[in-house]
Amino acid sequence: MPELPEVEQVRKTLIPHVVGHKIIRTEVFLDRLVQYPAVPDFIQGTVGKTIRAINRRGKYLRLELGDGFYILGHLRMTGALIALPASAPQPPYAKLKFTLDGDENLWFTDIRTFGTLYLLQDGGSYKVNGYETLGPEPLSKEFTVAYLEPLAHKSRKPIKTFILDQTVIAGLGNIYADESLALSRIMPTRVANTLSREELKVLHEAINKVIAQGIANHGTTFRNYQDGDGKKGDNQNHLLVYSRKGQPCRFCGTTLVQIKVGGRGTVYCPKCQK
Ligand SMILES: [Zn+2]
Repeated sequence: MPELPEVEQVRKTLIPHVVGHKIIRTEVFLDRLVQYPAVPDFIQGTVGKTIRAINRRGKYLRLELGDGFYILGHLRMTGALIALPASAPQPPYAKLKFTLDGDENLWFTDIRTFGTLYLLQDGGSYKVNGYETLGPEPLSKEFTVAYLEPLAHKSRKPIKTFILDQTVIAGLGNIYADESLALSRIMPTRVANTLSREELKVLHEAINKVIAQGIANHGTTFRNYQDGDGKKGDNQNHLLVYSRKGQPCRFCGTTLVQIKVGGRGTVYCPKCQK
């Protein structure tokens, strides 16, 4: 599933293709992609609007349409927003098409079809479950050890489950959670409230570092993730533990182990991570 760095890469790569362009026509090929409002209202509310900016919050993308209106999108498992030349054929798994003025169109493709889109207005009454309650972003000034410490001290969840909670930190998923814990040498099953302030400091720094690295490497591609240009990321070649079960730890050479934490596959080094 695309996490913060992948969604950020989609955002950055879409900007030169779509910002400043007007939506001429909206075609929805899979109704349930549009969660709100009803499909005819979504079409009516998007046609004629200019995409003024693209923002990101956690794993959500916001296409700003002016007057406080925005299209909110979540790619979930396999969703992708791709800009293609108007002359290009329909891409595989196309579920929605925004025909733009100019030479390019914006497509939403999705293999597993868990992706979601909403047309919303700032201050509107419709609330997207999980969007309003997002915690601070890694690398932001709100995301500090002082913020993290009291929350961790109240939590009896495994530390991995704690950092995956989007109300605690926005944007981390399985890849960057495992990577943060490997870099900070913390065992993913440790109960959050047993971490010392020093350990939380190290973890906080590690989260910022792995997210920054993921962004610098244009995201992590294992199966389907691609950016707004249809390109794959490079961060899969730089991972410490994620997807490396059975391979040697990059720090000590010990064979990496996979377990389940909160139902999620979790890879760690049994020697380095305490
Ligand atoms: Zn190790």
